[in-house]
Amino acid sequence: MTIIGEPTGVRRATGVGILSSVTDLIGNTPIVELHNLTSGLDCRVLVKLESRNPGGSSKDRIALNLIRTAEADGSLLPGATIVESSSGNTGIGLALVGQLTGHPVIIIHSAFISSEKRALLTAYGAELVEADWEAGPENPQNARAIADRIAAEIPNAWRSSQYVNEANPQAHFATTGPEIWDQTAGQVTHFVAGIGTGGTVTGTGRFLKSISDGSVTVVGANPVGSTYGGAEAATIIVDGVGTRWPESNWPSIFDKGVTDEILTIPDADVYETVRRLAVEESLLLGPSSGLAVAAALEVARTAPAGSVIVVIAPDGGGNYLSKAFNNSWLETAGVNADGFADGSSD
Ligand code: PMP
Repeated sequence: MTIIGEPTGVRRATGVGILSSVTDLIGNTPIVELHNLTSGLDCRVLVKLESRNPGGSSKDRIALNLIRTAEADGSLLPGATIVESSSGNTGIGLALVGQLTGHPVIIIHSAFISSEKRALLTAYGAELVEADWEAGPENPQNARAIADRIAAEIPNAWRSSQYVNEANPQAHFATTGPEIWDQTAGQVTHFVAGIGTGGTVTGTGRFLKSISDGSVTVVGANPVGSTYGGAEAATIIVDGVGTRWPESNWPSIFDKGVTDEILTIPDADVYETVRRLAVEESLLLGPSSGLAVAAALEVARTAPAGSVIVVIAPDGGGNYLSKAFNNSWLETAGVNADGFADGSSD
């Protein structure tokens, strides 16, 4: 198993020293306790801020591990092109690490991607191809079908395949899980994460269950419209999480058995939580963080007093100013924005 990065916590904590690579900034993200959203609750809710990774999301962890593992086992040759279908963050992570390791990166993305993320991908040098995210596996416009076609046309191109590549959950087993255990001094009782590929909840949850002899409860957070919660597929308006595919087509790396429970959170609660995190906790986070924190608060309402609930905030809100923090976008997406400050005006 590849372990990500060199130990950097001490150097970062002291604020001195020189890191040899941007990849040394990946991982060792801080945890911040909520105080206002949790008022009246007897549990602690601790938010792990993955926006502090250099590419701005938890996906930097898997990008580094996917690339390092493939380089080590010979499937990714020196200078070979990396092809991935991504809602944005994995693409940004791959572009960032690909650039440092000498690999061109092509990202197949959905039209739903925020303009900020599209600009970031381009800034990191990735080549972009738009796919129809609603298109089924048989449709030539399907993202994975396009990725397969492009990869077949480019000599030595490598598909990082985050949905099936075990280096995805392994990155979280090797880093996110141990960090949470250390940061809470083994006090964590519940772990909550949104499910996209399922890599975060599977890898981190597996680690926390194994080190605690199964005493940590693992909760998956699911958006409306996703089949992970057992409902029919419908439109999903939370970036990076959920799936429209039936269980037979769920990502192979998602191990549902690691989750004790999957909570589906209404869109209105997701976006209200994102806005409240910004104005009541000064945490500007992305929509999937609102989803996960809303699920963590639901857990906190019924968990035993004194429970320590750690929740993953996969990315920051800066990449969603045109969406989650824009009232007209929210209204168009069907979310009532009454009472929200309008972040779209300057
Ligand atoms: N939130 C965001 C913004 C993401 O990009 C992702 C990854 N698709 C997730 C949550 C879910 O993480 P995972 O793929 O590890 O389940």
